[in-house]
Amino acid sequence: MIRSFLFDILGDLIFPPRCASCGVRLPVPAGTRLCQGCKEEIQAVTPPFCSVCGEPFRSRAGINRTCGRCLKARPCFKKARSLFVYAGPVKELVRRVKFNDDGHALKALREIVEESFGRPVHSGGSVVIPMPLHRTRLIERGFNQSLRIALQLFPRDMVRRSMLKRVRNTLSQTGLSLEDRKRNVGGAFVVRYNGHPPDEVLLFDDVFTTGATANEASRALRRSGIKHVDVLTIARTVRWQ
Ligand SMILES: [Zn+2]
Ligand SMILES: [Zn+2]
Repeated sequence: MIRSFLFDILGDLIFPPRCASCGVRLPVPAGTRLCQGCKEEIQAVTPPFCSVCGEPFRSRAGINRTCGRCLKARPCFKKARSLFVYAGPVKELVRRVKFNDDGHALKALREIVEESFGRPVHSGGSVVIPMPLHRTRLIERGFNQSLRIALQLFPRDMVRRSMLKRVRNTLSQTGLSLEDRKRNVGGAFVVRYNGHPPDEVLLFDDVFTTGATANEASRALRRSGIKHVDVLTIARTVRWQ
């Protein structure tokens, strides 16, 4: 214990720790991966929000209720929830994990989840399905960021990496309208498992934008016989920002 503590201090002196988001030097021994300023900028998603899709309401008064969009077209998932607003340091950390394969940022994500929510993140269903990438995208990037983050947050034996497969390589969703996004992801997923389907699963992704991808993946899971699909993302874009 003392030995590992000394090694941590020596490591900090040789490679001074830096904030995983803004890069500012942290005091030694750091004991954290983010500076205080970045930590204070992080916004958790707080009620009131839509009890189905989790979209926070513009008015901070009142209770959770179903939003107009979910009333009009009920999503295939039971409920979607996100931990943080996709902005500031959270956005930076997710982007660093996704595009720079940054292990320091990956562990910083785990740190902010543990500090804000404790563990386990989800105590319900015993099966966590990371949102898959199409093979071509996986080869380009070299890894699936949703799988990497899921393995930081959930016990390894809960995470099923091959149950859901992305069979159509959808275009990047950025810059597409909601209708175009829905068309873009239609029929993109297949589900594979041996024996009986699990009763409920948790679909896990990095960012919830319009929910079109989560909805399409949930539709495929439901069609395969899984009764209950919940969605959890580390972050979500919030329209009222
Ligand atoms: Zn910082
Ligand atoms: Zn909703």
